[in-house]
This record gives sequence, structure tokens and C-alpha cells, in this order.
Amino acid sequence: MTTFGRFTVSIHDHGAYRLDGGAMFGSVPRVIWSGLIPADEDNRIRLATNSLIVETGERRFLVDVGCGDKWSDKRRGIYGVEPVVSPPGAADVTDVILTHLHFDHAGGLSRRIPGAGQEVEPCYPGARVHLQEANLEVARTPGPRERASYLAENLAVLERTPPALARGSAELVPGLWVHRSDGHTRGLQWVEVRGGGTTIAFPSDLIPTSRHLPVPYAMGYDMHVELLLEEKAEFLRRAVAGDWIVVFVHDPDVPAARIKVDERGHYAVREAVEL
Ligand SMILES: [Zn+2]
Repeated sequence: MTTFGRFTVSIHDHGAYRLDGGAMFGSVPRVIWSGLIPADEDNRIRLATNSLIVETGERRFLVDVGCGDKWSDKRRGIYGVEPVVSPPGAADVTDVILTHLHFDHAGGLSRRIPGAGQEVEPCYPGARVHLQEANLEVARTPGPRERASYLAENLAVLERTPPALARGSAELVPGLWVHRSDGHTRGLQWVEVRGGGTTIAFPSDLIPTSRHLPVPYAMGYDMHVELLLEEKAEFLRRAVAGDWIVVFVHDPDVPAARIKVDERGHYAVREAVEL
């Protein structure tokens, strides 16, 4: 937990899951990525679902909510989903910021009602949900490449209680910003928390782990790779110039770090940061 300006910020991991290592590293050869993150016997790597918790005194923001537990045994096995770990103070969450509606970021927004079949209920019933309008649109009508990531079951509670929709950058409370990015998926929003001379940024799947800091290390899941590389380069240029603390949504080992340009000209971790 770190306090700066009017904010108290901490990180919570909702629970691990696993994705194919090759898909996570796109065109990076296995001989390189497997030396960075070890793969299991099914070629999968273990990933965190880290949330940023931002408290202002009156409000408690939760940024992304993990995979949730609406999983069939078959899909739970495919993705190696581990049991959900609820964040501290879940009942007091006033605002949920979803960076985008892929299942590993938004699945934890709802859970099945025991004994009620496929019926779901919100996990944060008192909270207002914040989302980019463009992302809600794409989640309602995903193309063939994203259909496995945007699940209708994760939209149900949003159709009942409409979220607050942003179009581009927006300041939710003084010093807490969301910014739109379209490279990973249309209408992703990354989060910037600024106060007392410190900036903490949560790029979400723009840079999913500290191992993805080199600009060309994009994911096979990225929809618009060239755009992603431009957005990522601009984000990292600002992160180094501003000495930002960057929080990595899927990194189980280095959830937060300050960034440097190394001797070969690549972005890299300067120092891990404990929040
Ligand atoms: Zn993700």
C-alpha cells in the first residue's frame, strides 16, 4: 500500500490462470520467451490477474476484476483457472474501472447465483462500472478472432445496470484518469493516477507483464499490432520521462516497476516497486 497526494494505492491479484506462451509472445521465438517465463507441459505460462485498488477517502476504485468463477470444468481446465481471491474491502468498492471486457479482466464482475442455472448477480452490487463506449460496442458484436474473449455472460449485469461510458480520455476524480487505446482491442482504457509528484499507471494489456517491455514484444491476441506498438512506445516514453510506477496486470513476479532504457536501447525494469 502506498499513499501519495489524495490517493492510497495497492495491488490485488484475483487469482492465477494460464495462457499459451506462444500466444502471449506473438512473433517472439519460444527459445527466447521460455527463458523469460517458464512454460508448463502444455506450453502454457502462469499469469496473474492484478487489480489496482485506488482509495480517495470517499471512494474506492477497483481497476479490473480478474477471471471470476463462472467456468465450466472444461474451460477451467483449458485456462488453468485457480480459485478466485476476493479483494479486501470488496463490499466498499464504489467504482469498478474495466480496462476492457475480455474475460480475464471483466469475468469477476459477476458470479452465478447458486441453484439458479446460468443466472448471474453482480459481485460489486453497489459499484458504478466505468468503461469505454467503443469497447462495450465491440464486446456486444465481437469478430471471429475475439469471440472467445468477449463472453455474453460477462455483459449480462451491464445490460441490467448500464455502465458510465467514456469516449477517450476522462478524469473520473481529480488526478485519476482513463485513456483510450485501440491496439490490443478497440476501446481499451488504461489508467493513470497522479498526485503529490507521483504517477502510477496501469497499462492493462498494452503491456501485460514486465517481460513485454521491449516494444516489439506484442501478443498474438493483439488485434491491431502496428497501432499497439505505436501506443506502447508513446506510453513507455512518457513512463521513463515521468519516472512512473507501472503496474502490470498479468505479471505474477514483478507486479509494479519503474522503467529504464537499457544499454541496448530496450525498455526494461529499472527497479521493482512494492505497493
Ligand atoms: Zn488480459
